[in-house]
Amino acid sequence: MKKPLVAIVGRPNVGKSTFFNRINGKRISIVEDTPGVTRDRIYADAEWCGHYFTMVDTGGLDFSDKGEMQRNIFNQAQIAMDLADVILLMVDGKQGLVSSDIEIAEYLRKSKKPIVLAVNKIDNNEVELTYDFYKLNLGEPYAISSAQPKGLGDVLDAVVANFERSVKEGDKEPGIKIAIVGKPNAGKSSLTNKILGEERVVVSSIAGTTRDAIDTPFRYNGKDFVLIDTAGMRKKSAIDKESVERYSIIRALEAVKRSDIVLVMIDANEGISEQDVKIAGFVHEQNKPSIIVVNKWDVVEKDDKTINEYNARLSEDLKFMGYFVPLYVSALTGQRLNKIMPTVEKILENTNRRITTGVLNDIIQQAITVKEPPITGGRRLKIMFATQVSVAPPTFVLFVNDAKLIHFSYQRYLENCIRRSVDFSGTPIKLVVKSREDKD
Ligand code: GDP
Ligand code: GDP
Repeated sequence: MKKPLVAIVGRPNVGKSTFFNRINGKRISIVEDTPGVTRDRIYADAEWCGHYFTMVDTGGLDFSDKGEMQRNIFNQAQIAMDLADVILLMVDGKQGLVSSDIEIAEYLRKSKKPIVLAVNKIDNNEVELTYDFYKLNLGEPYAISSAQPKGLGDVLDAVVANFERSVKEGDKEPGIKIAIVGKPNAGKSSLTNKILGEERVVVSSIAGTTRDAIDTPFRYNGKDFVLIDTAGMRKKSAIDKESVERYSIIRALEAVKRSDIVLVMIDANEGISEQDVKIAGFVHEQNKPSIIVVNKWDVVEKDDKTINEYNARLSEDLKFMGYFVPLYVSALTGQRLNKIMPTVEKILENTNRRITTGVLNDIIQQAITVKEPPITGGRRLKIMFATQVSVAPPTFVLFVNDAKLIHFSYQRYLENCIRRSVDFSGTPIKLVVKSREDKD
């Protein structure tokens, strides 16, 4: 089920990220060796009193370095108005009411979305500092201190009280969900139409709620799938190009989070862009399997080296996910589209693969023989035992003498050894290192 989306809107420095990090029970995992990928912690799952929701810091969505603050906040507001179920407007109580607070409140009020007003930096219960903010006509201002923290519970109560629907953890729609993400014009709609067309039976088409993607169930090879097309809404909204790009990102993130596998579409004409890399990085960080679909292959001038050159470029840009699987297609001519669903099935098989403890430990033993574990501070890492604890993504626990002794590079080496022996292409795998003395 789609969880309600809460967007935090506010000027720079009012304390959005501080609030966000406080509230965010489970930090979005950040991969250590991927500089330039999505480090911005902008999206998080949260839970309050049994209500599950997704929270986005729209301020963190600013992918440009230009400090156009004024414009930025209206962009944030626009995104929140279009996508969020509840908007949390944050202002700075220490600084007091400023004119742009009034402008943004007026702008937000035009939408029919519920708005909760949080006055941050009220560190010592100076409630009087919030009085001025009644002028924003957004109801009661909640005095909070994200830094302390104080008052966060009341503000969250107000947020969840506005949810029209409640989603419990573990609620799941039937069908294997395939998200199609990528920049505007990469060819997502064209591909969706092609996948849903022809031999496959479209069961019915459910228009998404106002805010985002269209989910279409279909059957393939005797199984139920749901295609999540993230292209739809842009076509209705007359907004500038920059905002369009942001929309595509936020929709992509949401679709990725609730998908089982992701098709990352790249326009072969334009080559892989920074934004494509960010989206792929997010998919990787969310531990979702994926296919890199290089589209518009029909218009690329090709010789016998072209594919290799593209592969090399992808390997360079996607080096944090060396397991990626590329497909070169044309949604227009249909070239190689017949490979997509079989590849989806293959990668789903990989991500759901279990290997026996015996096989796994053979692989690890072999790896240790070829390359000895590192010594740190005079102590050598010893790997006692490994076992696979879950699938999608395949997750392995390594029991060692002291988890602090494992280096990232050695962990990467072990991952590569596992991948050389077992087909986990297209899917991330996780290695969890535990010291022998760890309790669980
Ligand atoms: P953002 O730009 O809106 O995300 O703001 P940040 O979360 O980065 O915070 C901006 C500055 O305000 C930082 O120096 C924070 O430490 C500070 N700050 C955030 N919340 C509070 C608060 O509740 N009280 C005080 N005194 N400072 C805060
Ligand atoms: P979306 O914004 O990602 O949904 O992209 P669309 O599916 O709307 O496609 C954008 C444009 O690219 C349209 O004009 C399509 O006809 C065109 N297009 C899509 N796929 C291909 C392709 O494989 N080859 C070529 N030449 N054009 C394509």
